[in-house]
Amino acid sequence: MEINWERLNPILKNVFDHLHANPEISWEEKQTTAFIKKLFKDKNCRIRTFEDSTGLIIDVGSGKPVIALRADIDALWQEVDGKFQANHSCGHDAHMTVVIGVLLSVLEAGGPNNGTFRFIFQPAEEKGTGALAFVEKGVVNDVEYLYGLHLRPKEELENGQFAPAIEHGAAKIMMGNIKGEDAHGARPHLNVNAIQIGTEFFQALNSIQMDPMLSQSVKMTSFHAGGKSFNIIPGNASFSIDVRAQTNELMEEMTEKITHIADSLASLHDVDIALEEETNIAAAVLDKEAISFMQQSIIECVGEEKLTPVISTTGGDDFHFYTIKRPSIKSTMLAVGCDLVPGLHHPDMKFNYAMIPKSVEIIVDVLFRTLESSQIKRSS
Ligand SMILES: [Zn+2]
Ligand SMILES: [Zn+2]
Repeated sequence: MEINWERLNPILKNVFDHLHANPEISWEEKQTTAFIKKLFKDKNCRIRTFEDSTGLIIDVGSGKPVIALRADIDALWQEVDGKFQANHSCGHDAHMTVVIGVLLSVLEAGGPNNGTFRFIFQPAEEKGTGALAFVEKGVVNDVEYLYGLHLRPKEELENGQFAPAIEHGAAKIMMGNIKGEDAHGARPHLNVNAIQIGTEFFQALNSIQMDPMLSQSVKMTSFHAGGKSFNIIPGNASFSIDVRAQTNELMEEMTEKITHIADSLASLHDVDIALEEETNIAAAVLDKEAISFMQQSIIECVGEEKLTPVISTTGGDDFHFYTIKRPSIKSTMLAVGCDLVPGLHHPDMKFNYAMIPKSVEIIVDVLFRTLESSQIKRSS
C-alpha cells in the first residue's frame, strides 16, 4: 500500500509535538484520550471510550479476523531540570504517533476489505495495570493477532534497525512494611530494631539462588525507618524490592522465596512483615507466525540489511498480559532502533524522529499482510 507522505508527514509531526508537550502519568491520561478521540471523531471508524478508565479503542472495518495494534499512552513522573513533572521518557508519545499514523493510513486506504483492524490506546503501562484492566473490559476477546511496538535504546538496536520481536523479562515491585514497636534508646531489650530486620532482609535477598542459566535479579531499592528523634529505636519500617526474571515461572518462584523470607523474619523477631505487589509486569509470550509476518514486513519496507534477530532485554512491558490472559492471541512487538540516548526513562531521553514514519510503513504492511494470509487460510 502506498502512503501519501506529503499529506501525512505534517499531520504526524503536529500530533507528536502535541503529545510530547502534554504528557500525563498512568491512569490520568484524560487529555491524551480526548485528543486522540477528537482526531478520529468524524472519520469512518468506531470509537469506544470508558466511563471508569482513560484510553480508547478504535475499530475500522467489520467481522473476522480481528487484527489489533496497541499503543501505550502514559508518561512517567520524574525530575526534569530540577523540577518533578510528567515526562514522556519511555517514548509512548512516539508509539501513539506511530499508531495514529497507521490508523490514518488505513482509513485513507478505505480500511480492510474483510475483517477488522482494532487500534488499542492503552493507559497505565508504566504501572503494569493498564493491559490487565483492558483485558477485563474484554477489548481483546475476539482478537486473533495483536501487534505492538517499542523504541529501543541505542546499545540494543542501532539507528534504522528493526527487530521483529522483543523478548521482555518479567518485572515486579514489592512494597514491604515492618510493624513492630518503638523503644527508648536506653532500653534496646524492649523491641527489635526495624533497621536490623531490614539488613537481615537485605542479606537474605542476596543469598537467593536461582537457576544460573536464566537471568534474574532481586534488589532492595528503598528502606525507611526512624524519624527526627534519634533517641528512639524504630520498630517500624517501609521498604521496596525490585525483582526481574527472564520467565514468568521464574518470577513466581522468586516471589515465593521473597515471601518466605518475610514470613521467616516476622516469626523470628515477633513482628508483622507485610508484602504487597505494587507493579507486576509479565515476561514476553511471543508467536512464531506473528514474528514471521513482522519479519517479512521489515524486509519489504526497509530492506533485509536493517532486519536484526529477536531482541532479549531485562526491561518489561505489560503488553504480554494480553497473551497470558488470552493465550489464543498471536502477538509480537516491533523493536525500533532510533538512536535513542541516554536511555529509556532517562529525563533527557532523545531519539531520531525519522523512525516514526518508517515504523508506520512497517506496521501498515504487517496489518494487511496478516489480513491477507488469514483470509487465504479461511477460504482454503
Ligand atoms: Zn517505561
Ligand atoms: Zn515503555
